Amino acid sequence: ISDIPRPVIRQLDEAAINRIAAGEVVERPASAVKELVENAIDAGATRIGIEVADGGKTLIRATDNGCGIAPVDLPLAMARHATSKIDGSDLLNIHTFGFRGEALPSLGAVGRLTITSRSPGAEAASIRVAGGRMEPVKPAALRAGTVVELRDLFFATPARLKFMRSDRAESQAITDIVKRLAMAEPSVGFTLRDVSGGGEGRVTFRADAETGDLFDALGARLGQVMGREFVENALPIDATRDGIRLFGYAALPTYSRGAAVAQYLFVNARPVRDKMLTGALRAAYFDFLSRDRHPAAALFIDCDPTLVDVNVHPAKSEVRFRDPGVPRGLIVSALRHALAEAGHRASSTVAS
Ligand code: ADP
Ligand code: MG
Repeated sequence: ISDIPRPVIRQLDEAAINRIAAGEVVERPASAVKELVENAIDAGATRIGIEVADGGKTLIRATDNGCGIAPVDLPLAMARHATSKIDGSDLLNIHTFGFRGEALPSLGAVGRLTITSRSPGAEAASIRVAGGRMEPVKPAALRAGTVVELRDLFFATPARLKFMRSDRAESQAITDIVKRLAMAEPSVGFTLRDVSGGGEGRVTFRADAETGDLFDALGARLGQVMGREFVENALPIDATRDGIRLFGYAALPTYSRGAAVAQYLFVNARPVRDKMLTGALRAAYFDFLSRDRHPAAALFIDCDPTLVDVNVHPAKSEVRFRDPGVPRGLIVSALRHALAEAGHRASSTVAS
């Protein structure tokens, strides 16, 4: 026993802790884009621009016209577990995308991060953190809002760098996440531009002049993202039960697709992947669609934040409902009802 060397227990330093946390929060460039866009939405931005180079590996730059960050708060924004979004007293009542205070310190630990920002009534300033080392706040030039620039993602964690896929694959994942986020925010304008010349060039989702009507705005945005054809062949859905609202568009059975599945599900505007919800969607179409077909749909579930736990995973793409039976039942009944009605209308048109 005395031959076994005694292990030394050490407290890890902040930079190491942040690098470890970054592994969970930022899996790839697209997850960094997601964090930056969500921060911009949380900041009340109505226009968000994203520029990427080389699949986001060398550059991701997010520009927004949101509330900005005061110079004194810049070091805090870069600190771990520091957030302006919750006070920690009620983790079940969350109204923002962010709340963990982990994204910026994580990105600064594994890449070179510069934030330039201006909040109303303050001067513009910038701060830089590279590989976990923070530099002092400096004066900067910016009219309003925030520009977050992330260069050389994972340069400080070479192991993770090796897991990166081709520029093309990473670009595709970025386009995908921007589309999903844009679907849930029809009143926000988005531009995604590849400045390295590769990738898809430029994607723009304009926020149409406010009509005030949810379905007009949502239909326009879904048309931009999923194609007009989907919206023209989809039924508007809007139903509420036990404090949970389900709305969006569900495709007519005639529009269904074989292989390519266009199913987008959101809970309180968060894009989610959830077996229970996709199962409910399949169940709703059971009598209307042959087994080898997949319904296309973009469905949004809105509910009181206390009815759903989003704090399941650092990336927050999983959610847990307090009572999963309610959203499931709501999806099945609302969609079945809409599909049956549409079927009736179709058959009576044929008959007359
Ligand atoms: P979280 O979003 O969980 O609060 P982050 O690390 O993503 O944590 O951001 C830390 C803080 O920095 C936020 O709480 C917010 O106050 C501020 N912040 C980050 N991005 C922006 C932005 N684009 N505009 C204004 N404030 C921002
Ligand atoms: Mg955040």
